[in-house]
Amino acid sequence: MTHLHNDPTAFKDDVIDGFAAAYGRYARRVPGASGFVRAGGSRTGKVAVVVGGGSGHFPSYAGLVGRGLADACVMGDVFTSPSSEQVYRVARAADRGAGVILAFGNYAGDRLNFAAAAERLAAIGIDARIVYVTDDVASATAAERELRRGIAGTLVVYKTGGAAADAGWPIVDVERVMRRANDRTSTFGVAFAGCTLPGQEHPLFSVEPGTMELGLGIHGEQGIRTADLMSADDLAVELVDTVVAERPDGASRAAVVVNGLGATKYEELLVLYAGVSRRLAERGVDPVLPEVGEFVTSLDMAGCSLTVTWLDEDLESLWCAPVDTASFRRGAVAELVGVVAEPDDAIGTAESAGAIVAGPASEASVAQAETVRDSLRAMCDAIATNEQWLGELDAVAGDGDHGLGMSRGSRAACAAADATSGGVGTVLRAAGDAFGDRAGGTSGILWGILLATVGESLGDTEPVTARRLADAVALATATLRRVGKAELGDKTMLDALVPFAEMLQARVRAGDQLAAAWREASVAAAVAAESTASLRARVGRARPLGDRSVGTPDPGATSLGLCVTAVGGVIAAGGSSQASAGR
Ligand code: ADP
Ligand code: MG
Repeated sequence: MTHLHNDPTAFKDDVIDGFAAAYGRYARRVPGASGFVRAGGSRTGKVAVVVGGGSGHFPSYAGLVGRGLADACVMGDVFTSPSSEQVYRVARAADRGAGVILAFGNYAGDRLNFAAAAERLAAIGIDARIVYVTDDVASATAAERELRRGIAGTLVVYKTGGAAADAGWPIVDVERVMRRANDRTSTFGVAFAGCTLPGQEHPLFSVEPGTMELGLGIHGEQGIRTADLMSADDLAVELVDTVVAERPDGASRAAVVVNGLGATKYEELLVLYAGVSRRLAERGVDPVLPEVGEFVTSLDMAGCSLTVTWLDEDLESLWCAPVDTASFRRGAVAELVGVVAEPDDAIGTAESAGAIVAGPASEASVAQAETVRDSLRAMCDAIATNEQWLGELDAVAGDGDHGLGMSRGSRAACAAADATSGGVGTVLRAAGDAFGDRAGGTSGILWGILLATVGESLGDTEPVTARRLADAVALATATLRRVGKAELGDKTMLDALVPFAEMLQARVRAGDQLAAAWREASVAAAVAAESTASLRARVGRARPLGDRSVGTPDPGATSLGLCVTAVGGVIAAGGSSQASAGR
C-alpha cells in the first residue's frame, strides 16, 4: 500500500507538484493543465512528441520529458486516462509548428480521449497523429496485435520517436518509425503481488503465496495464468522464450529492457538480467544498450517484465541517441545536434495552451450559465438517487462501476461549473473537462466530451436559443459517434442519445418551445434506454459477456435518460424563459 499521501483523490496533483519542485530543470508545468513541457521549450519547427496516460506509472510520463525523448506529457488520475481537454491543452502548448505525435498505451479510455483531442487540434490547424503502443504479448495473440495493451515497451517506442523528432525528421517519418518500433516490440511480464490504490487498504488483486501471475497488466489487471514461483534463471528463460517467439525473420540485434513494476528491488532485476542475457545469447540475440530499472511502474506492484525491440539500422541509431530527462539519461547532452533551448516564455500561458480562461462573454450568456449550473446540479441529484441501481445494471455484464463513476463525474462537473465564471461555453467546457478527468470509465470520458462539445458550439457570446441548443446537441452526438465508434444497436448510451438529439431537433424545428421539445426528447431517450434491454452488448466492457446483458437495460443509456429528464425539469421550471427567448 502507499504510505505517503495527503487527500488520496488529489494524489495526481500532489505528484505533479512534487515533480515540478524537484525537476523544474527538465520540465515545466503547462499552465492550466495536468502536464509538462520541456524546460526551456522545444525548438521551433520540430515535431512535438506528447506522451501520456493515467498516473501511477512513474517515471512514465513526467520522467520522460526532456531532450532526446518526449516534448511533453499529459497525466490523468491514477490509472485513468487524462481527459481530451487536458490532452488538447498540453499538445497545444507543445506544438512547435511541425505537428504533434500523441503517443500512449492501448487502452479504451486513452484511445477515446487522445482521438477526441486530435480532432480538436486538427480543427485549429495542428497536424496531430496518433501512435498507440501494443507490446503486451499476454493481452492478445500476434494475429490480433491491434488489441494488445501497451506496457513497458512504450519506453522504446517513445524513445525512438523522441530521438527522430529531435533529429528534425518530418512528422510522417516520426509517425512511421514509431509504428515500426511498436510492430517490432514485445513485452511479457510477471506479478508477485498486486498494487493498492492510494488511500485504499486492499490491493486490486492478490497473488497466492508461492505463486506468481504471468502476463500481468499495469493497472491491477490480473495475469492470464498462475504458475508456481520459480528461480530467477528459470523465469529469465520463460520471459526470453516468450518474447523471442515473435522475432521477425533475420533479426538479431535488439533493444532490451528489464522493467520493475514498483516494489521489486533493482538488485533482483539485475539477478534476473544475468539470466536474461545468458538466455538471449543462447537464442542468438545481441542486446543493444540494455536497460534494467523502473520505467513503467504500477504503483507498488511487485513484479517485472522483459521487453525486446528488434532493431533495424534506423531504430538502432534512434535507440542509441543521447537523451537527457529526469529519469532516463544516456550520452552527452552536447551531442544532441540541433537542439537549442528556447527561453522559458516559449512555454506560453494558460491561454495559449487553450486552457479554459473566461474570455469575453455576453451578459445574456453569463446569465444563462446559471441555468447550466442548475442543470448540472439536477443531473448530479438524479445520479446520486440512482447510483446504486446504475451500478447493479453495470454489474450484470460489465464491472459494476457505472453509478460510482457517473456520481464522481457529475459531482466534479458541478464543482467545476460553480468555480468557473463566464458564459455558457466556458462553464460547460470546464464541467466537461472535470467530468472526464474525475469519472474514470468509458461513459465518463464520453460525457466529458459531450458537455465540452456542446459548450464549444454554444460559445460565450451568442445567447442560447432552442435552435442553437438542439444543433449543439446534434453536433456533440455526431462527435460521440465518431470518437466512440459504436453503432446504433450496440447497446450503449448512444441508443438513448441519438433518439434524444433527433427528437429535440425535430420538435424545435417544428416550432415547439424549448421546454416542450426537451420534454418530448427526454421521453424518447427514456423509452429508448428501456428498450436497450432486448439488445446484446457489442462494444465496451460488457462485450465479452454480451449474452448475459440481454434482458437488462444498458447502464449508460439509462443514466443518459435520467440526466436529460432531470435537466428538462430545470428548463421547465424557468431556465426555459432565458433559453427559448431568442428562438
Ligand atoms: P466502463 O465500461 O469503462 O466501466 P461505465 O461503466 O461508466 O464505464 O460505462 C459503461 C457504459 O458506457 C455502457 O453502458 C455504455 O452505455 C457506454 N459505452 C461503452 N462503450 C461505449 C462506446 N464505444 N460508445 C458509446 N458508449 C459506450
Ligand atoms: Mg463499468
